Amino acid sequence: MSDNDKTPAPDLKAPVNFIRSIIRDDLDSGKHSTLQTRFPPEPNGHLHIGHAKSICLNFGVAEDFKGKCNLRFDDTNPEKEDIEYVNAIIDDVKWLGFEWSGLYHSSDYFQQLYDYAVELIKQGKAYVDSLSAEEIREYRGTLTEPGRESPDRNRSIEDNLDLFARMRAGEFEDGKYLLRARIDMASPNINMRDPALYRIKKAHHQRTGDEWPIYPMYDYTHCISDAIEGITHSLCTLEFEDHRPLYDWVLDEVKTPCHPQQIEFARLQLKYTITSKRKLNLLVVDKHVDGWDDPRMPTISGLRRRGYTSVAIRDFCDRIGVTKKDSFIEMAVLENSIREDLNHHATRVMGVLNPLKVTIKNYPDDLTEELLAHNHPQQPEMGTRTVNFSKVIYIERNDFLEDAPRKFFRLSVGREVRLRYAYYVTCTDFVKDENGEVIELICEYDPATKGGSSPDGRKVKGTIHWVSAEHAIDATVNLYDRLFTHPNPAASENFTEHLNPESLTVLKNCKLEASLADASEEIHYQFERTGYFVKDNKSDDLTFNRTVTLRDAWAKIDKQNQ
Ligand code: ATP
Ligand code: MG
Repeated sequence: MSDNDKTPAPDLKAPVNFIRSIIRDDLDSGKHSTLQTRFPPEPNGHLHIGHAKSICLNFGVAEDFKGKCNLRFDDTNPEKEDIEYVNAIIDDVKWLGFEWSGLYHSSDYFQQLYDYAVELIKQGKAYVDSLSAEEIREYRGTLTEPGRESPDRNRSIEDNLDLFARMRAGEFEDGKYLLRARIDMASPNINMRDPALYRIKKAHHQRTGDEWPIYPMYDYTHCISDAIEGITHSLCTLEFEDHRPLYDWVLDEVKTPCHPQQIEFARLQLKYTITSKRKLNLLVVDKHVDGWDDPRMPTISGLRRRGYTSVAIRDFCDRIGVTKKDSFIEMAVLENSIREDLNHHATRVMGVLNPLKVTIKNYPDDLTEELLAHNHPQQPEMGTRTVNFSKVIYIERNDFLEDAPRKFFRLSVGREVRLRYAYYVTCTDFVKDENGEVIELICEYDPATKGGSSPDGRKVKGTIHWVSAEHAIDATVNLYDRLFTHPNPAASENFTEHLNPESLTVLKNCKLEASLADASEEIHYQFERTGYFVKDNKSDDLTFNRTVTLRDAWAKIDKQNQ
């Protein structure tokens, strides 16, 4: 067999990282003939952007090395877990565009896990302890002091087997006993000081019901589940580095079919948000946000509702790479990924978020023209549409300034601009209400400039968007800002104090071009000059969510002129 047959070359576009190098070496050397990974979420919340990193890594390497990746629910904490979360996680992984080769639950292995525990007891490698939780903490010692052995550590194998069987039979109350590994109370690694393997918990499990009054601990369950599934590389985040000796100890002591290799990588940490299901759950429960899929949430479902695409999220995960070094990623990296994707395929439309009425004095009173507009100027295959033009239109309020600086290339009395796809117009006057607020502009159009260019070669510097008042449709638009005002809110005890009170701005009075009456949640739009938007999938009235702003040249110019 040639080297190439044995190890398919990874997709060259995929970024190289230390994990890919290890996998490549293990396939090259014949240590493994195929690659098997898994993504192991606990169904105690919805997935967030940090999980996307792990998903892209686990499923991504499996795809590129022609291996397999399982989706495994790590469901050993029945009280916090729910079938709703299981289903949401399945949807999210599918939406990201990945297919698992097997879908499993740790609870599928409860009987095997139990049998392995009995085996450990028989070998004198596990014992039933009656210390209370508090005593266990006390006996554990500290980083500088060794732990102390429990008086139950030398209980006979027969007694241990008897007590463990009775724990399983449901004879004891929660917390009465614990099954512990018998390793080393003096180990410098606290995880090795006789860690718990099983606890009594009379809780209903979403899959196994009331069958089990005892549940295995994460560290014990995870490695055995990996081994049962024939996982070759068990990829996890850095906080499990200190647990690796325990992972290996369990697999060395019980007769599992194989011994997967645990490899740790740095978690994704994104500035101005949080990536912890527990904390995100708190935001939902305390109603700081409108559910797990609130578009301000860093959850996959929130990002999707906000208009992020799976292509953009996968691109983001490629860009941030995989290393062993903890770092914070700028939100701008994520935003650039979505901008780049949407720039390619978002349908261009016109929508006015803060409308200002404009009357074109010299335009015929009851004329409506259907003007040709491009759905994407750089992608002619995306076609064209018509937009209605009439005497009264709306423009963006900030496209007019009463006292405009020299370089303000939009409207002010005496200045001429191009109305996108329509005509040149010049502002001749404006009307104020009793509070002194400008409520209407009076303009004149040049009929010779239809389509937006002048036959006499006259140039205008500004092009602005607009909608016909008579034809526009009303909509609500949600603008989003960062959810937190602090770059690392999770560092605070009370992280909710850093919530950004301006993370959501609801604009009720927006005027959009008529084509958006048939908007679909599947289509991404660029409201020209304003940003990328998607129709909200939960609102009763027509509502659009701003996915991300455009790189705003206007804002920069405005700043220069201040
Ligand atoms: P959380 O603190 O949000 O609950 P978790 O690690 O407890 O995170 P799990 O459901 O256990 O959540 O995670 C499933 C997988 O996703 C694990 O392998 C975990 O290491 C990985 N993962 C979780 N958060 C991140 C993150 N921020 N970056 C990269 N991988 C992550
Ligand atoms: Mg977890």
